[in-house]
Amino acid sequence: MRQHTIRKPVGIEGVGLHSGKVARITLAPAPADAGIVFRVRSTGERIPARAESVVNSHYATTVGVNGTRIQTVEHLMAAVSGLGIDNLDIEVDGPEIPALDGSAKPFVALLAAAGRVQQSARLRPLTLPCPLRVGGGGRWMQIVPSERFRITYTLDNDHPAIGTQVLSWTPSERSFVEEFAPARTYGFLKDLGLMRKNGLARGGSLDNAIVLGNRGALNGLRYRDEFVRHKMLDLVGDLALLGRPIRAHVIARNGGHALNIELVLAVQRAVGLERRAALEVTAAAEDVGRREGFVPAPGLAVI
Ligand SMILES: [Zn+2]
Repeated sequence: MRQHTIRKPVGIEGVGLHSGKVARITLAPAPADAGIVFRVRSTGERIPARAESVVNSHYATTVGVNGTRIQTVEHLMAAVSGLGIDNLDIEVDGPEIPALDGSAKPFVALLAAAGRVQQSARLRPLTLPCPLRVGGGGRWMQIVPSERFRITYTLDNDHPAIGTQVLSWTPSERSFVEEFAPARTYGFLKDLGLMRKNGLARGGSLDNAIVLGNRGALNGLRYRDEFVRHKMLDLVGDLALLGRPIRAHVIARNGGHALNIELVLAVQRAVGLERRAALEVTAAAEDVGRREGFVPAPGLAVI
């Protein structure tokens, strides 16, 4: 498997879900091994789309560096990951990625218009050395080694329009585009006042979110279980902050951005530990090699 970027620059603008401010993004091709990088137009600051760049994960995933922030990156990141784009320059003119229709569907259309091009560098998926778990009580996430990337998600909510929704999915590009990318974000009408007071959901409307009143959704649903699908979409977007695809099965219950980021950081630590262990093995083998007069085969420390 090789890395991919886009063929030509494309852009779109719209209102941010939380800031309510208009922003424009321009996506451009990036060289192999560059990864996904946000570039802030006003300051020129570069923010790698990595878990280390996350400065807030309350209601949305915000990345930042040196006081410059970009809010709500998750749906764009999900589209980038779902379409297998590994290297991308994302110029952002504004404080937040546009909400558009509240899903990843418009970003999928934008990336499709840009086209995809294969690069010569190899894609190096991460493999998990051991199972991990974050969270507790009714909100937790577990990740276990697996041949293929898979998500099993349970969403429980007292609201009559949600209830208990359970879904298991082995992502493919087609199922991502048709069954998950169009799932929209959602919010409860009763929380809206407090959220707006706290600077959240200021751009939220029936055009970019499912709004839940006391008895049901105020707008029509795209899927009967659109809520759990959106949770899985958010998870795909946050897992993209690993910087490489992962071969593992994520089993989640009532997660959210904070837990998603906790999981990404736990995976990075576990993979780093594995790398260190492999390096120690290599160093030990080199010692033996020196003593016995041969050089060990390279590649042992490569993960
Ligand atoms: Zn979302």
